[in-house]
Amino acid sequence: MQDIKATKNLKDEQYYIDLYDKFTIKECHEHIKIYSEEKPPIPPESFELRDLKNNVKKMIGDVALCFLKGNKFASKSETIRRWIQRDKMLDELIENTSPSKDIACIHCYNPMTCKEKEIYWGDNTRVLFFFYCEKCKENRAFYDNGEEFQVAPDKCTKCQNTVQRKYSRKGNKVTIKLICPQCKFTDKEIWDFNERTKENIDKNFIADRERFCLSKEEGLKYLTGIDNLKQVTRSFEEAEERKKQRELYDAVAKVKKLNISDVEKLVAKSLEKEGFIRLKLENPQMSRDIKIEFTVQDSKSGIHEHDRKMKLKKVINKALLETNWKLIDDGIYYKLGILSGRLRGLEHEEDLMKLVQARQKKEKE
Ligand SMILES: [Zn+2]
Ligand SMILES: [Zn+2]
Repeated sequence: MQDIKATKNLKDEQYYIDLYDKFTIKECHEHIKIYSEEKPPIPPESFELRDLKNNVKKMIGDVALCFLKGNKFASKSETIRRWIQRDKMLDELIENTSPSKDIACIHCYNPMTCKEKEIYWGDNTRVLFFFYCEKCKENRAFYDNGEEFQVAPDKCTKCQNTVQRKYSRKGNKVTIKLICPQCKFTDKEIWDFNERTKENIDKNFIADRERFCLSKEEGLKYLTGIDNLKQVTRSFEEAEERKKQRELYDAVAKVKKLNISDVEKLVAKSLEKEGFIRLKLENPQMSRDIKIEFTVQDSKSGIHEHDRKMKLKKVINKALLETNWKLIDDGIYYKLGILSGRLRGLEHEEDLMKLVQARQKKEKE
């Protein structure tokens, strides 16, 4: 079995800690930039007022930064654990995937040797195998499913013909030579991974880490503080909830519990004032509550029946407002001066609570 060099993904834990901290530092810098941007006054605003606004914005930014730092600490260990797990899985994938056999050189048809394999950087899900021809020094690369890795052809800058690419690699430096077979123009591209790494070096990293990345002790203190804050908020909400419940029980206790003859008297009296006379209650239907039909005569004439129905509704609702009775909403009928409808009487505390809640909600609307 040939020896294939595999590019490993899993790194030391410190690598992931540093990477996470770099993201935190970047995010904090961006945050500070947003909150410290000073805007000039827009007339008629005075300089003093604008200064004040800028200062307030900065103060809010400072407080928000504390939360940002704390939240980054809170997600740190879980994120690092996920990254490590991901890289371990990628290494397992590389380890357990074998290259296609019988890859031949396109120039001399001799079998090529697979020398390296790594996770394809484009999607992080496939393994890419690099083959090499000892005789012509040519390279080919294939994915684990046998598909060849293709680079979109480059065009010659002089004659627009498709150029040939030749790769060579020394350590972390990859040189790509572009040769035009038509006009013989040559060009060179160099990828220096060392240089790229240097570009990313943050000279203030140590100081920034000190400033933005909470130590374990600071982080735990933050989390305890947040927990306490949540606890206080919860207690406050619970107290509010208990208060609301108490108010509801008080309201239910205040509901006047009327029996049928009380209701009859109360409603008849209110209706008569508005010209609805001879209230008559029919046979009650008894179940968990009582439903009872009624009829009443309209002593006024010449008014549209819709207006009279609305009036009747309003009068009954008002008369029953503080009682355990209500008008059933599903309709009031009017025929030749006789109006009919239904009343409902409640007895159970649960039902009364719902009734009170519905009335309170209606009152707020
Ligand atoms: Zn060859
Ligand atoms: Zn050319």
